[in-house]
Amino acid sequence: MGLSGVEVRGLLSLCLGGSGGVWGAGLEEVGLGEASIPGCGCVRAVVAVRLLTFADFPDGVSASREGAGGRGGGGQVDVPGSEEPWAGRLRSVKSVVKRTTSDLRRHNRSILLSALYVQGPTSRNKLTRVSGLSSATVSNVVSQLLAEGLIAEGGSEDSDGGRPRSVLEIRPDYGSVIGVDIGETHVRIGLFDWTLSVIASEVYPIAGTRLDAESVAALVLQGISDVTRAAGVDPADLLGVGVGVPGAVQPDPRIPGRMLVHAPTLGWSGVALGEMLAPGVAAPLMLDNCARTLGQAEMWRGVGQGADRVVTALIGVGVGAALGSGTEGGTTGLAPATIEWGHTVIYAGGLPCRCGSRGCLEAYVGADAILHRYQATLGSQPFHASGTEGRLAELTARAATDPVAMETLEKIGEYIGIGIGNLINLLHPDLVVLSGWAGSVMGGVVLPTVRETAERHALSYLRGRTRIEVGRLGQEAVAMGAATLPVAHLLSTGGRRPEVVSGPGSGVGSVSGTVPGSGSGAGAWA
Ligand SMILES: [Zn+2]
Repeated sequence: MGLSGVEVRGLLSLCLGGSGGVWGAGLEEVGLGEASIPGCGCVRAVVAVRLLTFADFPDGVSASREGAGGRGGGGQVDVPGSEEPWAGRLRSVKSVVKRTTSDLRRHNRSILLSALYVQGPTSRNKLTRVSGLSSATVSNVVSQLLAEGLIAEGGSEDSDGGRPRSVLEIRPDYGSVIGVDIGETHVRIGLFDWTLSVIASEVYPIAGTRLDAESVAALVLQGISDVTRAAGVDPADLLGVGVGVPGAVQPDPRIPGRMLVHAPTLGWSGVALGEMLAPGVAAPLMLDNCARTLGQAEMWRGVGQGADRVVTALIGVGVGAALGSGTEGGTTGLAPATIEWGHTVIYAGGLPCRCGSRGCLEAYVGADAILHRYQATLGSQPFHASGTEGRLAELTARAATDPVAMETLEKIGEYIGIGIGNLINLLHPDLVVLSGWAGSVMGGVVLPTVRETAERHALSYLRGRTRIEVGRLGQEAVAMGAATLPVAHLLSTGGRRPEVVSGPGSGVGSVSGTVPGSGSGAGAWA
């Protein structure tokens, strides 16, 4: 596209009309004076800026028509005609342009890093193809990422009869992350490299203890100290710490930047968990709902890879779900949104649920409900194990020889199948992943019944479209999900380590919580 006789390879458009200063940036072509910029219906004044590619400037994007503007930086804005009446506004908008060029630089790093993260070893040619960036830009950004140790040359691949092409890959040893799984029966701390391979893990049963937030926070800090010491990792070198909580993480309306956890199943209402943890965590700290983060882990590293529309069904003491959509592994798709699946009613006037309603799915398939059903059945045997997790594992193992145990789990499989049938009718997923600690423990035994029942309850035109699988991330799944938070942040910043900024009211390290409206609900699962 040409503009005023100047070759334009990228375009940034600004609207200076209306109430002032709406901007949009991108590489799409926008016609001078006739563009509609997202967020602004006004087209009174649109100016265009030529964006040179990264290849032109070693440290990123510059914007210039005449080659001015300087390396690395600022935007030389070309305004057709007189400066008046825009000159004043233009000065203020120039600062936006500077931010925007920086955003583009970060955006391009993020695109390439995410592509390598999701696709694994990839040649520069393929990176150029999938990213839509110019080969010069790819070359420039790849050089930066290599120099910074985020990626490495990783062997070679054949290239249609030509010379073998070298491939690039993520360097797992660039850094490690912590994932914290706070449940109703345990706190699990996982140390992962940043490609999410487990380095060390510790689990601390908390059943029977009082779940006051201060005690849980102290346990989390102890766990972080334990796993990092065991692995010989300096906690200050961590790329970040992600915490998955069985509830909602929402901004404190009174203190900007502070995040509060609302987790009815733990008895937490407005708990400033980040603030409790921050003094003991040297790395950036992030909190989010555990079903959302688990869904993210399943789509990145679990059975959800490559699926388009995935429901992750999380079964523990509580029951929840998350719906995510992904492309090529999900890092470029929509982050999962939570669903209060456990409190959908499957039996009118049925068993009382702790939410106050009756007949909720959770009242039938939550881990405590399953154990209660078995123990209340004539012919059941006493458990040798103690604790909910130990007993459910014992019940599952017993199903091979104990007809009462088998009958109990078949009934549970039927209830889960009804719940999944409802999900299929409502959400049309192409994959449902049975996950959570209880889902993982009994998944193999109940899966045939779950599939058969869900098929029976799904609408005929939806039957056969949805696969149902047991998650393959095992007992580390929720901790791994939490660990995706700092990894996702690192990918979104193009591999820039965020600075840790703690302070009064910050609540956490540097970044935290969920995006408002992104779907975190008052979860009720463990
Ligand atoms: Zn309920």
